[in-house]
Amino acid sequence: MTTLTVTNAIIAQQELSRRLARKGKTIAIVPTMGALHEGHLSLIRRGLKKADVVVTTIFVNPTQFAPNEDLNRYPRDPQGDLNKIKQAGGQVVFIPSAAEMYPEAFETYISVENLTRTLEGGVRPTHFRGVTTVVAKLFNIVRPDVALFGMKDYQQAMVLKRMTVDMNWPIDFVICPTVREKDGLALSSRNRFLSPESRRQAPALYLALRAARRLVREGKTDAASIENTMRAIIGQDAPSAIVDYIAFTEMETLRPVSIIGKQTVASLAARFGTVRLIDNLKIA
Ligand code: AMP
Repeated sequence: MTTLTVTNAIIAQQELSRRLARKGKTIAIVPTMGALHEGHLSLIRRGLKKADVVVTTIFVNPTQFAPNEDLNRYPRDPQGDLNKIKQAGGQVVFIPSAAEMYPEAFETYISVENLTRTLEGGVRPTHFRGVTTVVAKLFNIVRPDVALFGMKDYQQAMVLKRMTVDMNWPIDFVICPTVREKDGLALSSRNRFLSPESRRQAPALYLALRAARRLVREGKTDAASIENTMRAIIGQDAPSAIVDYIAFTEMETLRPVSIIGKQTVASLAARFGTVRLIDNLKIA
């Protein structure tokens, strides 16, 4: 397939997926909310290595935004997105409407119970229920063999992986590394809302994560003292940032650790004015 096929209706995507499967083609899914950047495109490129056809989905999912969050402000660039997907080699784009995804009578949700209580789930209590519900629907519509997600959204990746295993979906679940700007800031569609001054300060988040990894490599294991160093770096280099949390967790279980052992991820969330950024790094 050389051209880009765009589907909007759920039934159209279901038929296309069924047709591809009948032809023996494997399908990879890359779920996104659009406003695509290199981070998303890296998932599409990786998907092309793992399957015959990559279906990128673009859907700004209302159920994962709380009423006070930025649903209406979320950036949208449909034409730019299609061009980028085409250039990356993606073959299919599924762009459903909210009205079709959530008709008036809709009332079925899927939720992962425990992994969603901490970190982002602690600050955004209804967020992951929306994420798991929409991704479950997208899996059922697209019927992928492979699904690709970014480590950028570490907890989301772990929650969705848990859901995929628990629901027995025969999907190869792939987590891809975070793509960053040259100065270390993780690419995010929200970065465009940073003021020039906040944009200048924002790489401090990654600097703090790198410092944590360095301390662990030097033999430090006390999470509280590593957190202090991270807070000092952010306080110094990003005085405008308000840190929501810094956490050290076991990679898969998200259990908090106070003594850094193997497979530990440091993650953080910080606000620059109304722009909330998250980032993480595997430090052990
Ligand atoms: P979003 O459109 O923000 O919902 O993200 C769609 C997918 O792209 C998710 O799996 C994200 O984790 C992933 N993603 C977002 N930013 C990055 C990045 N900087 N590097 C790698 N993957 C990313």
